[in-house]
Amino acid sequence: MKWLIILLLFLVLIAVVAWYFRKYLQSAWFLYQTFRRMRKQMRPPQEKQVEPKSRSGDTELVRCPKCNKWTPKEEAVKLKSDFFCSLTCLEESVTFNKRA
Ligand SMILES: [Zn+2]
Repeated sequence: MKWLIILLLFLVLIAVVAWYFRKYLQSAWFLYQTFRRMRKQMRPPQEKQVEPKSRSGDTELVRCPKCNKWTPKEEAVKLKSDFFCSLTCLEESVTFNKRA
């Protein structure tokens, strides 16, 4: 019986402390959520750095090594250091390189 009273008192104490610090706990939780959101928002640019795309206003032209056609870099298909005007040219170039 003595242990039950002590346990009950202990639980009440925890409840009181939790109630007293509820605002503190809430703001701590809010900070934690904000921090998590910030980390999520910071991740996408790092992933985009793997394949950089120039989003400047000027359209840079690249020449297709297959058909010698000039194409805007954003529309071109990139393979290693070469830019192809279309997937067809890229595929033809790849099969041509394999045969050679
Ligand atoms: Zn081409």
